[in-house]
Amino acid sequence: MMDHAVTSVRLTTNLDWLYPELSEVIRLFLGDIPIAPDAGAVEIAHIHTEENGMWTENAVLDGNFSRSHCVKKVSGGLEEKRTLKRAAKTALFLLMSQALDRMPPWGSLTGIRPTRLIYEGMSRGMTLEEAENWVKQEFFVSDEKASLLKEIVTMQKGIIEPPKDTFDLYIGIPFCVTRCAYCSFASGEIGNGKLTEPYVDALIQEIRETSAFMKKMNLRLRAGYMGGGTPTSLSADQLDRILKEAMHHFPDAVEWTVEAGRPDTIDKDKLLVIRNNHVDRISVNPQTFKDETLKIIGRRHTSEETLRAFHLAREIGFDHINMDLIAALPGEDFKDFERTLSIVTDLNPESVTVHSLAIKRSSKLHEQLTVQGTSHNQADCEMADDMIRYARKTLSALGWRPYYLYRQKYMAGNLENVGYAKPGKACLYNIGNMEETARVLALGAGAISKWIFPRERRIERAPNVKNIEEYIARVHEMTERKRILIMEDERS
Ligand code: SF4
Repeated sequence: MMDHAVTSVRLTTNLDWLYPELSEVIRLFLGDIPIAPDAGAVEIAHIHTEENGMWTENAVLDGNFSRSHCVKKVSGGLEEKRTLKRAAKTALFLLMSQALDRMPPWGSLTGIRPTRLIYEGMSRGMTLEEAENWVKQEFFVSDEKASLLKEIVTMQKGIIEPPKDTFDLYIGIPFCVTRCAYCSFASGEIGNGKLTEPYVDALIQEIRETSAFMKKMNLRLRAGYMGGGTPTSLSADQLDRILKEAMHHFPDAVEWTVEAGRPDTIDKDKLLVIRNNHVDRISVNPQTFKDETLKIIGRRHTSEETLRAFHLAREIGFDHINMDLIAALPGEDFKDFERTLSIVTDLNPESVTVHSLAIKRSSKLHEQLTVQGTSHNQADCEMADDMIRYARKTLSALGWRPYYLYRQKYMAGNLENVGYAKPGKACLYNIGNMEETARVLALGAGAISKWIFPRERRIERAPNVKNIEEYIARVHEMTERKRILIMEDERS
């Protein structure tokens, strides 16, 4: 009825505000193709009607194949919008899945963290099992993914809500030694390093200025996280300066992570600095243990270097190491992934994060694949699915449990990234940030502070400028933005 190889869609709707959401449902099935209201290889129309207190959402393909979904009209605010949006997406989802004879593993979910739905169901009085069934029935989430959600919510019990007088801290280091082909972060290559010193100075100024108003608010740090970029692309001395300042102004956190990330930037001096500043968790990220792939994705380090960095960290005394992996990297098959996972499980890190490759438009990989005229095809997506499933089975059998999950656009097979941890080793920062239950004070170029106003159930963001030179020049203005936002909390 519809070809999987459709290259563009003409989409129309009589509710314009739903256009982006409806486009995302189409992309769940057809990937990142052009969708426009005036031209396309196939035509899809969404028509909303209202009669006798009922809404009917119709989705029509090429004027002759249609599906509809009816719901009781809801009046008022957010709930009205949410109900209407879900109903329209459901009609379009049914149309697409029947026209293509395919059911994506996460059903009709786009633009929402799947665990949110479980929490939403539970907040309406459902048990965990009832909420699991609800996401299957209402959003067509597969049994497998729904059970993953249940496991994650169980793992988050007791640690998802931070104490009320706390916040989490993010410190961004937007430098990397080289740029990975799949990278879409606002991270600059370190170049001749001339910006790192003024950047560290600006960051220290931001730490001092923000700590002053956090103290006034009587808020204390719960979990700190230094990410990037690659924090260890800075020198040991620069890392020491930042960490000392952070520990001095934001003392007594229960958890501190430094994302060491690229093994080629890790050495004994830097690890000692991190350890001596009481950081208890680091990330050493192999992504894969196949050297050929590492070259293709521009990582410029070898598997040997990853092993060396990991063992060095253990010798120095780190008892919480995370390792990141990516499934469905270009040129890899199932055996490659199986081998990588087996090396990781032999190393026995306390946590493992398994990503599905996301090819974003701003990455070099997207450019390369566009030039070659290739992209992730259906076979890649199925392989990614097999890898992700295998990782869950293997890690679970060996004692790691899934504890947080997020999805991004343009991921192979519309899958997910999942953090697994041994009991007691779940990263509080990751949970608080992903579930948006923690207030996050974020420092550094491109870092986005998120402040939660619980009484109004509102989250506000205060982004820092992304450009490194601009950040250095305007750091005081960046702290002011945050001060105004956070002090509003006191007044509300
Ligand atoms: S290490 Fe991370 S931030 Fe740096 S280039 Fe690679 S993916 Fe991007």
